[in-house]
Amino acid sequence: MKTEPLTRGLRAGAGLPDLHQVAHIPDPWAALTTELKPPLTPDEARAEAYRCLLCGGPTTPAPCVQSCPSGIDIPNFVEAIARGDPTQAASTIMEANPLGGTCARVCPTEVLCEGSCVLIGEGQRALDIGRLQRFATDAVSDPAGIAIIAPMQQQNRNVAVIGAGPAGLACAAVLASLGYGVTVYDGHTEAGGLVRYAIAPYRQLIEPLPVEVERLRRMGIRFVMGTRIDIREAIQAVEASCDAIFLGVGMGKDSALGIEGSDLSGVWSSLPFIEAIKSRQLPEIGDTVAVIGAGNTAMDVARESVRLGAKHVVVIYRRSREQAPAFPSEIAEAIEEGVEFVWLTAPVRFLGGDRLRSIECQKMRLGEPDRSGRKRSEPIKGSEFELSVDTAILAIGQLPWSDLIPLIGVADANGYPILVDPDTGQTQKARYFTGGDVLNGGGSVVEAVRMGKIAADGIHRFLSTKE
Ligand code: SF4
Repeated sequence: MKTEPLTRGLRAGAGLPDLHQVAHIPDPWAALTTELKPPLTPDEARAEAYRCLLCGGPTTPAPCVQSCPSGIDIPNFVEAIARGDPTQAASTIMEANPLGGTCARVCPTEVLCEGSCVLIGEGQRALDIGRLQRFATDAVSDPAGIAIIAPMQQQNRNVAVIGAGPAGLACAAVLASLGYGVTVYDGHTEAGGLVRYAIAPYRQLIEPLPVEVERLRRMGIRFVMGTRIDIREAIQAVEASCDAIFLGVGMGKDSALGIEGSDLSGVWSSLPFIEAIKSRQLPEIGDTVAVIGAGNTAMDVARESVRLGAKHVVVIYRRSREQAPAFPSEIAEAIEEGVEFVWLTAPVRFLGGDRLRSIECQKMRLGEPDRSGRKRSEPIKGSEFELSVDTAILAIGQLPWSDLIPLIGVADANGYPILVDPDTGQTQKARYFTGGDVLNGGGSVVEAVRMGKIAADGIHRFLSTKE
């Protein structure tokens, strides 16, 4: 085996923070929280809003609206910003998406709303919808300032939402606006799910989540936090208290690699790594960091490692770049920031004494498609090599957080819920609906919001037709 040196260092990318400077300023916390996209000033926001062509009409929504999974009326809120009324803009956003401030920071806008902006077809850059949305939602720091529309009628029915992540919160918001009594249960002390615990600080310095959750409380939603619903007695108590149940338990456990040396000091899982940064317990990562996996979370921990001061950060992925689950823009920005990628390579074992010293890796090649249709990655015999690293971070996906789905009896052989109707999120037990990461195996925040809203409509239809 030979040791492959990692030779390329950091370099600043056009349009991104200069990490040579950022990484060497004295306060590492400041480096970690220098936001990717700084907020617009009021003058910049109005000037940008004036660029909008206010497309669409009463029967045909604008292309950007059609591409927004949460259905935000984008021209409407942009026009409010142009008028100098960010509070009205925030109300429009939050009415469609209760996590509108969060999504403004973490949505892949380039491939969603901005990707279909008609300005592109006119040879101009797309409207900066993400930052305008952020401007509007940041302008309202008091939840009382965002309009809450009272339900047309009280339904005299109760719904339990298990899981306070994006899908659960979106489902709860729609049901509360329809007049249902809604109680949200979650094992954590704070609402938000992975949005609260797993979004890297460089994406959002000021977390909009507390304002968003407080607004939901003001809508009458009851939160029972620090309460895990994962034993039969707890399920029975919830069932007795309500007419329908939404399961939004999400994905919260890092998948394990299960290879030798995984318990060495210096081998991290992605979620504890991000949590350590968020709680300012900055990890000691040394000069060279390997990130295993190539999803969006892998890009986050790689880019935060650069900000923590690592001289070499390398992403190791067993398939090719084309098959990487991260958004292409995330990979491109990571490369701009100096992150290196070793494609078609898999770790075989972690080596070291008490602490990680290196990773034995093996080259892979693509073979026949597997059941998912993706080409299988197959090891190449005799291609092993050793990579010297100080830290390894596993970001190979997440598993369902809870044993609840099998316990309720709506799980498939892999523990995922079985739907009888994808258009409503209804499971094979009629009172139970589901959506979000636990169903799609982990997607974007706004996709979870969309699924939570669909399930809320499904619950409303189910209860409206039930005696
Ligand atoms: Fe404005 Fe672009 Fe949407 Fe048209 S497509 S309404 S220009 S953001």
